[in-house]
Amino acid sequence: MTEFSRPASHNPPRRGLMFVLSSPSGAGKTTLSRRLLADDGGIMLSVSATTRPPRPGEIEGTDYYFVSPERFAEMVDKDELLEWATVFGHRYGTPRAPVEVALHSGRDVLFDIDWQGTQQLQQTDAASDLVRVFILPPDLGELERRLTTRATDAADVIAGRMARARDEISHWGEYDYILINDDAEVCLGEIRSILHAERLRRKRQLGLAAFVRDMLGN
Ligand code: 5GP
Repeated sequence: MTEFSRPASHNPPRRGLMFVLSSPSGAGKTTLSRRLLADDGGIMLSVSATTRPPRPGEIEGTDYYFVSPERFAEMVDKDELLEWATVFGHRYGTPRAPVEVALHSGRDVLFDIDWQGTQQLQQTDAASDLVRVFILPPDLGELERRLTTRATDAADVIAGRMARARDEISHWGEYDYILINDDAEVCLGEIRSILHAERLRRKRQLGLAAFVRDMLGN
């Protein structure tokens, strides 16, 4: 984002925003979110807790917090999760504390969550911090091809994911921005543009009134 940045002294304090990226499995969301995080220091990933077992290469605390069903139930009971959902028979949820710390310190938080979680965030007090982006695949054939090339999943899992993809896609109307990922570079550019514009919204620039007052000498 360096091409857009202003001198730090000209940036009034800002409240962090909650940037949700949802898509059917296989639409390229994981790659896009990794690339966004790699080159934008102002946004951090909300690492979810899940009861699903780790896939090869996944790292505890980086990709997910892998927890037992009992621990997950305890997190729900103690109100430690901002939202949670059951996806493909496993439970997934967003730990509340790291998100609240980040938002209060003016950092943005990226959520890789499904439509169920997005709906729940929309119903919280933080709804005005929410920016909801939905990524569509160019077509379902392309989606199936991408799911099939992910060799770690069994055929019945892939079939289940295709059925769920249709369900996930049917919720596109609940999002603020809809992107079609037929070119990852273009899609990434669009995501960066959305984030950049949303950061400049008046309601997020907390010190603006004082900044303008000082400028005008009032
Ligand atoms: P996967 O098992 O492929 O990593 O994720 C399966 C689905 O669960 C994806 O659509 C992902 O966005 C969603 N998901 C991951 N973490 C969370 C979470 O904390 N809350 C909700 N609601 N969905 C999640």
